[in-house]
Amino acid sequence: MRTTDLATLTFRAHCVAAPSLVVVWAVLPDGLLRSAVHALTGLTCAALVAVGTRLRRPRNPTGWWLVAAGVAAWALGDLVYSYLELVVGIEPFPSVADVLYLAAYPLLALGLWSFVRSRTGRGDREGVIDTAIITIGFVLLSWIFLMQPTLADGSASVATRVLAALYPVGDVLLLALLVRLLTSSGARTASFRLLGAGILIMLVSDSAYQVQSLDGVYSPILDAGWLASYACIAAAALHPSMRRLTEVEPTTGVEFSRGRLLALMLASLLSPGTMLLQLALGLSPELWAVGLSSVVLFVLVVLRMSGLLTRVQQQSEQLAALARTDALTGLPNRRSGDAELHRLQQAALAGGQPLSVALLDLDRFKSFNDTFGHPAGDRLLSEAAAAWTAGLAGTGGVLARWGGEEFLVLLPEHDLDAAADAVGRLRPCTPLGQTFSAGVAQWDRAETLAALVARVDAALYEAKHAGRDRVVPAGAAAAAGPAVPAPAPAPAPAAQPVPPPAQPVG
Ligand code: GH3
Ligand code: MG
Ligand code: MG
Repeated sequence: MRTTDLATLTFRAHCVAAPSLVVVWAVLPDGLLRSAVHALTGLTCAALVAVGTRLRRPRNPTGWWLVAAGVAAWALGDLVYSYLELVVGIEPFPSVADVLYLAAYPLLALGLWSFVRSRTGRGDREGVIDTAIITIGFVLLSWIFLMQPTLADGSASVATRVLAALYPVGDVLLLALLVRLLTSSGARTASFRLLGAGILIMLVSDSAYQVQSLDGVYSPILDAGWLASYACIAAAALHPSMRRLTEVEPTTGVEFSRGRLLALMLASLLSPGTMLLQLALGLSPELWAVGLSSVVLFVLVVLRMSGLLTRVQQQSEQLAALARTDALTGLPNRRSGDAELHRLQQAALAGGQPLSVALLDLDRFKSFNDTFGHPAGDRLLSEAAAAWTAGLAGTGGVLARWGGEEFLVLLPEHDLDAAADAVGRLRPCTPLGQTFSAGVAQWDRAETLAALVARVDAALYEAKHAGRDRVVPAGAAAAAGPAVPAPAPAPAPAAQPVPPPAQPVG
């Protein structure tokens, strides 16, 4: 039998055995046997976490070992506590059981921390801030209702009071790590939920126990809470999805969900809400505690907002860049080519320099597509864009994709002849043995840009009609002048194109 099958079998057996054991425990009379069943259930669950870790072999087993140790420490604390109380017959608080109980908090917290590290790596600033915001509210509640009354209990020695107050401190620590785990990215698997439920039930039981202890009462039902928490944690370690708990998953990009926003809002309201409740009940509010926690909360909320703002700014910059760029060639697209043309026109007007514009159109590109396929056509477009961009280096010229296989070239400080030369120099750069035709025009400082582009377009049309593979200056075209001759005789269009590589572009 494979180890994973054995783990699944153990998981199923555990799902039947654990609730049965809780029922047995519940019907047993209060006493040694019942306490023994309780403690042994805890130890068995700790052992099952270890079994799950051995059999399922997660990528990062450290967290699971720490959780197993934490549950074991807590269950051993139960065992020692019951032994001292029921067998030795002494008051078990304070005793060595406290050492075991208090050791469980950091062990479990470190285990959860290890899970968080495996899931998110470093640098989830927003997750850390959210955790702090949610935890701060509970720190205040714990201070008001647990820590402060425990420390103020005049009937106990200072050492005993401090020892008792360490329990709510441990709970707050565990809560912080639980919230951090819940805010981490990664898959919300059954194992993740079982572990979260186990720790949450443990926290609720522990806090309820501490509240009751302050009044000197104790309801055994809380023990059922601990048993349930042990069982959930063991089930989490045995479940088939336990390996994914320590895997990095691609983020969905929706970390800031409505649920999270609600949790943050409620947590932020805990501090003023507690004060208002105390006022409404005629109690004197803990002004220092409320004031301090509010200050920390405000700072955290502003930090969180600044993070969101930075992210929104980055995203809008990315979007703006996307809106300016042609996805295939990486060149400025028509929109930004147009904008650049306006900008250069203004500069030419202000500076008195010439400005010329050219339109390049690949010759017989449709037949290239038909022969070699659309992906090869795409590759020709992007390679031509790169080659012409390199060919324009030093001219101050700007290349933009005008649409399809047409490209706009803006040549500031170029008169018609210089512009026709610059565009002519691009002809031998055209990849895969292909050719282009171009029209060039110099802005006459009076015409509109639309009229300028129309002249360039007409010159391009002329170049096509004159046999392609040439650069035609607009003025000359209008006056039926000679075309700028090609630097070398061009091969028959698409007659023997260099076969493009078989792979499509990216
Ligand atoms: P001419 O020499 O007269 O310019 O002929 P042509 O075949 O280049 O021009 P035509 O306008 O007949 O065809 C242009 C082709 O360009 C048609 C269209 O499928 C292709 N095309 C436009 N955009 C893209 C693109 O992004 N990728 C690819 N692969 N083809 C494109
Ligand atoms: Mg065209
Ligand atoms: Mg064409």
